[in-house]
Amino acid sequence: MSDAATTTLKDIWTLALRDLQRRVSAATYEGFLRQTTLVSYDGSTVVLRAPNSFARDWLLRRHLPDICESLSAVAGRPVEVELTAAVDQPAPIPPPAPSSSEALSYRIGLPYDEFGATPLNPKYTFEHFVVADCNRFAHAAAVQVAKAPGRSYNPLFIHSKVGLGKTHLMQAIGHAIRARFPHAEVVYVSAENFVNHMISGIRDNTIDAFRARYRRVDVWLVDDIQFIAAIEGPASEEEFFHTFNTLYQTGKQVVIASDAPPRALRLMNERLRSRLEMGIVADLRCPDVETRVAILEKKAAAEGVELPREMLELIAKRIESNIRVLEGALMKVCAHISLSGRIPSLSELEELIADYSAATSDRRPSVREIVEAVGHRLGVDPDDILGPKRQKELAWARQVAIYLCRELTDNSLAAIGQFFGGRDHSTVLHSYNKVAELLAEDQRVLFLINELKTSLTAA
Ligand code: ADP
Ligand code: MG
Repeated sequence: MSDAATTTLKDIWTLALRDLQRRVSAATYEGFLRQTTLVSYDGSTVVLRAPNSFARDWLLRRHLPDICESLSAVAGRPVEVELTAAVDQPAPIPPPAPSSSEALSYRIGLPYDEFGATPLNPKYTFEHFVVADCNRFAHAAAVQVAKAPGRSYNPLFIHSKVGLGKTHLMQAIGHAIRARFPHAEVVYVSAENFVNHMISGIRDNTIDAFRARYRRVDVWLVDDIQFIAAIEGPASEEEFFHTFNTLYQTGKQVVIASDAPPRALRLMNERLRSRLEMGIVADLRCPDVETRVAILEKKAAAEGVELPREMLELIAKRIESNIRVLEGALMKVCAHISLSGRIPSLSELEELIADYSAATSDRRPSVREIVEAVGHRLGVDPDDILGPKRQKELAWARQVAIYLCRELTDNSLAAIGQFFGGRDHSTVLHSYNKVAELLAEDQRVLFLINELKTSLTAA
């Protein structure tokens, strides 16, 4: 095999891995996928080698469709996948049968796309989505959009912090519409992919095909739109805006997910911002502990694993903010049970998930940390921020701190009020809204909040 061919093979698997990392749990990725190598690809069949037979069986049983989809998307055509295992160390007796006889394969016809659109994840459906207070409004809006695409809730703009279900909910809309309207052209694309393919379109003189492709969709699901503003500036924003307008004006449904509400996005184009705000804007908040238990229950059931309730409660208590991390911890526990063949004790469980709970708590500052960071940045005494004084600088620092407490911690308005010298919840809400308004009007405030958020959430 020539050097060039070797590089291409490696690239295919590297790119597929990047995509797979987003689809599977951290435990599966770190434990099995990363140590799996691509042995050969003849243009239709990819042969992969897992590190051992356990890993091969695990991937076969749970992730073959995902692997197939990712590889097909990267290869730009539907491929078949054969999974083999490296010989287990130490070699078992009798020696394992030749891998090819054990290999199973799987074929899938894929709506892969040369313009950056990717297939929907089959797991991200409404049935798999747990509805609770933290997401009730967004869920209701999503269901409504799925029932009557392109009608009243257009565009639907979903925003939240990372790992709280934006992609899941947005793809659930796609699945539901496809089920009801099999001929509808439902396209899911990350804003990053959209921009990258736009750039290659300009470079390769295929921009017309790119535009035509996106302007004939019926339901456009655009994920992580904050990238549009971040990556390439005005050109990508313009391209996005034109596609958006074409679809919107012809009554096509647009759903957008973002890590920030429209008013906090760094967009150059004010018309785009106001268009984004014209439909429904719905946020997803952190689930409370009962909801986290319900989510874990559902995920464990989907994996075919039954865990005692006290274990689910312990995991839910330790991991507070990010559902993706919650799921990663659960998968690690499931993998442990598969490997050891028994349910761990509670203290073993604590140890198993320690990494995950540390990772989340690092990113969740306390009220005290927030107040100190704000005091330090704005040059006022943190204790005065919490106290009764009313000087202008202190009042401003207090509002900023309150805003960040609401954004970055799970405390209720009333609890935040308690921290801030027994102020009531309407005062807290007023402070929050005040800063939220200024964010939209004054770029200095936007940068200030951004800077504080970044430093407070850095691990
Ligand atoms: P985001 O796009 O906001 O970063 P995702 O949609 O990728 O988050 O969700 C992260 C993980 O959490 C996914 O595996 C998703 O299935 C799961 N998840 C999020 N919200 C829910 C929910 N309400 N019910 C069940 N699973 C959820
Ligand atoms: Mg997402």
